[in-house]
Amino acid sequence: MKQIPISFEFFPPKTPEGAEKLRTVRQQLYAIKPEFCSVTYGAGGSTQVGTFSTVQEIQQEGTPAASHFSCVGATREGVRTQLKQLQDMGITRLVALRGDLPSGHGLGGEFQYASDLVAFVRAEMGDVFHIEVAGYPEMHPQARSPEADLKALKAKVDAGANGVITQYFFKPDAYFRFVDDAQRMGINVPIVPGIMPISSSTQLMRFSDACGAEIPRWVRLRLQAFGDDTQSIQAFGHEVVAQLCQRLIQGGAPSLHFYTMNQSAAVLALCKALQL
Ligand code: FAD
Repeated sequence: MKQIPISFEFFPPKTPEGAEKLRTVRQQLYAIKPEFCSVTYGAGGSTQVGTFSTVQEIQQEGTPAASHFSCVGATREGVRTQLKQLQDMGITRLVALRGDLPSGHGLGGEFQYASDLVAFVRAEMGDVFHIEVAGYPEMHPQARSPEADLKALKAKVDAGANGVITQYFFKPDAYFRFVDDAQRMGINVPIVPGIMPISSSTQLMRFSDACGAEIPRWVRLRLQAFGDDTQSIQAFGHEVVAQLCQRLIQGGAPSLHFYTMNQSAAVLALCKALQL
């Protein structure tokens, strides 16, 4: 199998036990030598302390760390302060997002779209940060059309993003079509597929409903048929996702970004199967 770079995504742990467990998970995953590890950021800044401290730990462990950064509800002054904090910690990578506030909260804030955040980071900090943005092979759920969503992606790249990480998906053709359409529109930065390992059927269905990622009918039916049989779900999930990754690598994906869900087993098994 062709060798391509990989990266891992974590979320900030909520408890000291979670933080300790994540340290162990990271050490296991560092064996695969990721290009970088990223840490998600709760919309509205709800996890800012946990995100920044986890990012700092990763950086201190010797692996380049990327902080996700969502701008919904944020002020320019607040973002300026936090960017400076990240710079002082030696962080040079951002995943710049709009984010979603929980329902009931107005959008508010001084930024409307992720493209506004990217433009602000470039205007304030020049080239201090390598900036990734989010892309949606199956369209962002709030977009008016696939074309409008691609235009939104182009606006983020034109504002200064260096690369795109996609929402997860299970149909490789959705990704290949998205990349072709993006290139036709003049988006010439790497578009890295986001990969969601399948470890739990209920969790996957919940996430997918929320973010608009389609689980193919044949996959959904099989997962449902396994019921509580976690071992069978994981074995089947491994096969499905390993085949997806193989097709993506063969089809020219520049890199793979794994949504680890702060677990190592499924990702390690996938990387082993793919000889990464
Ligand atoms: P935007 O690019 O701003 O797009 C949002 C919507 O507005 C889209 O429908 C787009 O088509 C539309 N749009 C954009 N610009 C315009 C315009 N000029 N005119 C009209 N419409 C426009 N969420 C978090 O809270 N924390 C995280 O850490 C996080 N990490 C993520 C990582 C990845 C790789 C991905 C794919 C998603 C992540 N998310 C995260 C989820 C993300 O915040 C949501 O999907 C959010 O709804 C959209 O964020 P965005 O940055 O894509 O927004």
